[in-house]
Amino acid sequence: MPDPHLHPQKHAARPDWNLIERKWRQVWDEQKTFESNLDSAKQKYLVTVAYPYPNSPQHIGHGRTYTLADVHARYKRMRGYNVLFPMGFHYTGTPILAMSRRLLSGDKDLYNAFRNVYGVPSEVIESFNEPVNIARFFHQEIKQGMKEMGFSIDWRREFTTIDEAFSKFISWQFNLLKRKGLIIQGSHPVGWCPRDQNPVSQHDTLGDIEPNFIEYTLIKFKLADTYVLPVATLRPETVYGVTNLWVNPHVRYVAARVDEGNNPMWIISRDAVMKLKHQGHKVDIDHEIDGMKLVGEYASNPITQNKLPIYPASFVDPKDGSGLVMSVPAHAPYDFQALLDFTNGNISKELHDYNVVKPITIIESEGYEGDNIVPSRIIIERLGVKDQHDPLLEKATAELYSHEFYKGRLKENTGKYAGMTVAEAKDLIRSELLQNGIGEILYEFVKKPVKCRCGEECVVKVLSDQWFLNYSDVQWKDLAHECITKMDIVPDEIRSEFNYVVDWLKERACARKSGLGTRLPWDQDWIIESLSDSAIYTAYYIISRYIHFNDDNYITAQNLSESFFNYVLLGEGSLKEVSEETKLSEELILNIRTEFMYFYPVDTRHSGRDLVPNHLTFFVFNHVAIFDRAYWPRQIVVNGSVLMDGKKMSKSFGNIIPLRQAVRDHSADSIRVALLSSAELLQDTDFSFEALRGIRSRLDDIYQMGIHLSNSNNNIQASLEQLYHGQSVTESEDKWLLSMIQRRIGDATELMDRLRVREVLHTILYSMEQDLQWYNKRVKSKDRTELLVNTILSMFLETRIKLLAPFAPFLASEVWNSILKETTEIRANLDWPSVSEENINSAAEESEDLIKNLIQDIQNILKVTRMKPSRVNIYTSAKWKWKVYQRILELIIVNRNSSLSDVMKALGDDSEISRARSDVKLIKKIMEDVLSIPAERRSLKLNIKFLNEPLTIEDAAPLISSELGNVNIEISVFSEDEENVKKNDPQSRARLSRPFKPALYLS
Ligand SMILES: [Zn+2]
Repeated sequence: MPDPHLHPQKHAARPDWNLIERKWRQVWDEQKTFESNLDSAKQKYLVTVAYPYPNSPQHIGHGRTYTLADVHARYKRMRGYNVLFPMGFHYTGTPILAMSRRLLSGDKDLYNAFRNVYGVPSEVIESFNEPVNIARFFHQEIKQGMKEMGFSIDWRREFTTIDEAFSKFISWQFNLLKRKGLIIQGSHPVGWCPRDQNPVSQHDTLGDIEPNFIEYTLIKFKLADTYVLPVATLRPETVYGVTNLWVNPHVRYVAARVDEGNNPMWIISRDAVMKLKHQGHKVDIDHEIDGMKLVGEYASNPITQNKLPIYPASFVDPKDGSGLVMSVPAHAPYDFQALLDFTNGNISKELHDYNVVKPITIIESEGYEGDNIVPSRIIIERLGVKDQHDPLLEKATAELYSHEFYKGRLKENTGKYAGMTVAEAKDLIRSELLQNGIGEILYEFVKKPVKCRCGEECVVKVLSDQWFLNYSDVQWKDLAHECITKMDIVPDEIRSEFNYVVDWLKERACARKSGLGTRLPWDQDWIIESLSDSAIYTAYYIISRYIHFNDDNYITAQNLSESFFNYVLLGEGSLKEVSEETKLSEELILNIRTEFMYFYPVDTRHSGRDLVPNHLTFFVFNHVAIFDRAYWPRQIVVNGSVLMDGKKMSKSFGNIIPLRQAVRDHSADSIRVALLSSAELLQDTDFSFEALRGIRSRLDDIYQMGIHLSNSNNNIQASLEQLYHGQSVTESEDKWLLSMIQRRIGDATELMDRLRVREVLHTILYSMEQDLQWYNKRVKSKDRTELLVNTILSMFLETRIKLLAPFAPFLASEVWNSILKETTEIRANLDWPSVSEENINSAAEESEDLIKNLIQDIQNILKVTRMKPSRVNIYTSAKWKWKVYQRILELIIVNRNSSLSDVMKALGDDSEISRARSDVKLIKKIMEDVLSIPAERRSLKLNIKFLNEPLTIEDAAPLISSELGNVNIEISVFSEDEENVKKNDPQSRARLSRPFKPALYLS
């Protein structure tokens, strides 16, 4: 806590933040502080954040991404950029339709959440039977919440994605993509809700799960001539190593005719029948077959013709693949372990008279070579796997799979594939299987189950005649990679995830049969889906301002033609013709074009981590398809989500806190700080009210310090001017605090540039608090009351306020304008402070550190000895020791690994200090001292050369005694060089002193 003598009003009423916030919101509105226009004298900075989907009110969890974007915008504004931070609202898609339907069908949970958690009036909820009313209502709620949070948004550019003008923009974009051949019609798999009869994306699923799926190969093993047993695998090349099949004896399978012709019937689970039907196969069930009936039969391998026994296994899940599993014990640790357990009778005791098969090794790789090597066995033994339920098997599988994929070669027993790498052989074998009709393709979700918001379990469906964005296009992928490589990604560790998604993305269904949105311009039966219409809307912010209520430049959707967008966004076509066609003046069109060229590209795009595999990657793809390189986005910032007291926020946990309510109860600034101060960018942040209250009280203290300073003296402003213009100070603590202010500015700036906001806040709220406390102690112990003290404190507070301004804009504006600067001119934007080099004073920093360390050392002695001394003698080192110290410092700076013998040799070369060589213990100690200093501080110490320790300690003597809890302790300082030191050194301590490490005697 700050020193109480600075806070005479500490017990006065706490600041009324609601009042202060209202005042500043009004000032910002009146001064149009956040309205950004083209200003060619200033560098622009376009900050965007994924716009909200207004199907429910915002809770605290939604606040993090927007707050971070706002902090970024405010910081750049303080750094002198012309920042544009716009916002829109995303109405398109099916979620609000689903929500309206749930309310109509009498969903009590949803009703109660709206009514009781968010306080939506019941007559408003009744109006939600019309879906768009939901969006309209929560749009206004969210917008108001954003204002109350202090987000510095240019509201003139606001739009919704069902605005007619926006639809024109989307039609233009889709026509363009189609002309470029990037929108195709065809048969491709999609995530699908069987009830809604619509494709699903992350937006449409419960828990916002991305419905990713992967492609398996179904290999058809023969059972006599009448049946096949299809088995799904991700490693078709291991068909050569299959030893047996697994079947679940408790499952009732079916025999079915699949597709046309007189093919043998397939034996599969009922779940597999559904999957196959959705994926374009015709399936007629003929009869049922008990799993138990299959046990003991022999299948044959369609490639090697090996006979394969069918073993029972309860781990076979009828929902996975076909409901049957092939066993490749040599290369699949799970299979090996299952066979082992099977042999040991752990699984099916009644069956252990079966002859257990021998693993067939088909891949050789480094570390797994030799005649009788079984790779699975080696890795299982190495990891110490216990049985088939051991989670270590997961690790064994992943490790062996990737090792063999990258380093493995196929062995002689794979015929024509022998000698190939696994990576090469895999695709060839897969193609061979598919061509010969031995293999089929089966898609499965990566994570199951995927549920639609309507509650239905989703499936992978192969859609025909569907419109797709062709994200499989190789050239398109190359451009996306190029963009990602050039762009700044914060934090950088997520870059590889973007590249992975680009590689992995396939054709994506971009239109639906239902929902709100823009119709496909060439096929009016289809509505463009909600993530596909949200990829380049950041460009529309430039246009949307002109569609708003601007008297002179009023544009309606009717004015907007394809040629308008081509001219304004791509610079194509003739101004004159566009003007004639749109009935808009040439001047207006040119202005919009110029403004686009000024504000674009997007300088930073903020979003939650869950949007990496979809929105953020589409954002990159569509930009590179449509715009020239000069307009490609420059940065993406990704953040984690918000937990509440360690738990995910959800209605079922009852831990949802509406954002607007939280602002009213706790102040916008403390919520902003709390959302950003407890976690690194990618981590989930844990929100707790305890932490929030702690932050609130720190912010209150800063406010109170301002009140106190403004009450304390009328002349601070004048005095502060002098200080800013280089007035020199003499007291050590003054020099120190001025120097520390520069260090904190330097640190905070460097951290802000990398958006390491947690550390910035730590610097401002905690490190600076410690600086303040130390300064106050020093000043108090010297009974200093002059104007300069408050002036320096004002400078400290000003700096702190400015550093805090992006995070706590209400506090910063209030303290700056109303308390520190008693002027009538209101400044809505402060400047970010810059480091004043002349105030950096390494010697003062070392001096104060010396005192802090000294107090700590004495306190440690008192703790251990339980002494209650009446005097403390402090011995500082002789001059020659400083020279030795400097020499060693030099040596270690030049060569970090200087050895004792190097040091001894170097000291011998210098007659002034060569005598030090007789005291090896001292040399070793000094070397340790130097090595324990962080490398970046060593050269600072070198520059100081010599610290007048006696003077420094005497200056702080009153503080030292008071910190020791007894102001009557007599503190005496002796230099080792002094004549009379011997008389005052009963235990010959002085000779133990080292630079920055005085010796002590307590009695
Ligand atoms: Zn559904």
